[in-house]
Amino acid sequence: MREEDSKICIVCGQGDREGIRIMRSFICHSCESEMVNTPVEDQRYPYFVQQLKQLWVHTEG
Ligand SMILES: [Zn+2]
Repeated sequence: MREEDSKICIVCGQGDREGIRIMRSFICHSCESEMVNTPVEDQRYPYFVQQLKQLWVHTEG
């Protein structure tokens, strides 16, 4: 299993960007910074949270 092959952003689905790896998932810098700068009251916020929840679901098996 090669970790380097799984650099597909869980938010935007892009696989050719630099970013960070969380658990076994990946988030590109673009989406990471967008999430950080998204206020809780923003309508996109629930979507980001939902995507992030997948990270923990994966580790639960
Ligand atoms: Zn992304």
